[in-house]
Amino acid sequence: MATATATQTKTAGTVGLKQFIDGRWTQGTGKNEIRSVNPADTRQVLAQCRGASRQDALRALEAAQKAFPRWRAVPAPSRARIIEKVVHLARERKEELARILTLEEGKIFPEALGELEKGINLLEWYAGEGLRFMGHTAPSELPKNLLFTVREPLGIVSAITPWNFPWAILCWKIAPALVAGNTVVLKPSSLTPWLAVEFVKLFESAGLPQGALNLVIGAGSEVGDVLVEDERIEAVSFTGSNEVGVRVHALAGKRGVRVTCEMGGKNPCLVWKDADLELALAGIVKGAFGSTGQRCTATSRLILHEEVADSLVWQIVEFAGSLKIGDGLKPGIGLGPLIDANQLHAVLKWIEIGKKEGAKILCGGKRFTAEGCRNGWFVEPTVFDQVTPSMKIAQEEIFGPVLSVFRVRDFEEAVRISNHTRFGLTSAIYTQNLSLALRFIEESQVGMVHVNSPTIGGEAQVPFGGVKASGVGEREMAKEGILFFSKPKTVFLDYTGKKRESNIY
Ligand code: NAP
Repeated sequence: MATATATQTKTAGTVGLKQFIDGRWTQGTGKNEIRSVNPADTRQVLAQCRGASRQDALRALEAAQKAFPRWRAVPAPSRARIIEKVVHLARERKEELARILTLEEGKIFPEALGELEKGINLLEWYAGEGLRFMGHTAPSELPKNLLFTVREPLGIVSAITPWNFPWAILCWKIAPALVAGNTVVLKPSSLTPWLAVEFVKLFESAGLPQGALNLVIGAGSEVGDVLVEDERIEAVSFTGSNEVGVRVHALAGKRGVRVTCEMGGKNPCLVWKDADLELALAGIVKGAFGSTGQRCTATSRLILHEEVADSLVWQIVEFAGSLKIGDGLKPGIGLGPLIDANQLHAVLKWIEIGKKEGAKILCGGKRFTAEGCRNGWFVEPTVFDQVTPSMKIAQEEIFGPVLSVFRVRDFEEAVRISNHTRFGLTSAIYTQNLSLALRFIEESQVGMVHVNSPTIGGEAQVPFGGVKASGVGEREMAKEGILFFSKPKTVFLDYTGKKRESNIY
């Protein structure tokens, strides 16, 4: 096993990254260089490496294949003890890792710390699953017969992850895959390779056997296609955009293997006239502008009862105007940058589309280039009023700090608007009326619904994911996360010692 110092961890200057294949840190052999750039100041190249080639991805698969028989033979509680060690190591380095997260992804430091904590909770939860990784027993119709199930690993699995939660998503895919006894090839987003390397180094330091977890850093489909199409892969766990997810699902589905794709959202928040408006305001701004709106669960559609709309909208606008925009490592900053130029241009394009469609812009709408922000991908928090359900800005995921406001008179109309999208990840309602809350829970076409709390968030012990275009396949986190990475085997154990007389069973 190579040591944890095989890649550099300099705090100043550009960090050299490598691929992690078969327990060794090696140079990629791809044509492209992968660069991790600080989105708050793009002059700063934080880390770089030669990208992985198709051949590197194939070597990673070979390593995972070689490691599988040994890793699956390790008892599940012992596998989980390695995750427990990762928990301790991650806790010790929490601040340092959160700093890398802010530097590389841009979210403000308190949010990065929150993501670190959430990931650690997930690791802890799955470490506990090592002791609960069990099947069940059932009574047999036959005398002296035992019926039970055991759970077995699938084999080699791949994990393909996005940049917006570059720590937590790795935790919620890799930990259950390993605890269940699979070996893994991980392909993180090429925009956030540095934190992925640090993540893998924790497993290396915790003593994970060679080949059980492999990391390939390579852009887009060259590496991605191998990790979806190779016949040795038994399951694909993807999180990312709907466009790529649909393709991944089709390719993996063609081979008939397990695939889960967690994708985008267009999440509504409904505020009824009886709501606690202070609470609602806090939840709306956190949901819409938190993580610079770059969350699959971000609040992007705000549906307001017309009696409370005016005052709430102006409070949101006032809050947006008071947000300090800048480098997320600086104290007092409330809104960090977007991840890269593509994302900035996409968000600005959506804002222009919104204006052309006739929505009324109440604040923001431009790139933010004040002193100290000229070299970053900053955009002003933006609020659109008078949005109608058929507008493109009401339908497509913007993935930036852009909020669209709808005004409604009756509850049925509110529910209709909230469901009027191809996405179905999460929704929220603010009301004091229990019946309305329960009706909303029942009628909302989403995978997760919040009452008197923002559209964002998740906890390790409950499933996370969406319906419609937001998600296909098994949910992630909780028990569901480890069920995806394992299969049941049913055992019929007959201890009568006699020939069976009945023909029925
Ligand atoms: P993305 O462009 O779809 O990329 C996701 C991952 O797929 C990256 O590792 C990417 O690699 C890889 N990839 C790209 N093309 C591929 C291909 N042809 N085959 C296989 N893999 C390929 O998404 P993103 O921009 O990173 O992330 C933002 C999206 O993720 C948003 O839509 C957001 O809503 C969604 N998201 C969903 C959840 C959820 O749980 N529902 C959570 C977080 C984010 P490269 O980086 O190298 O291109």
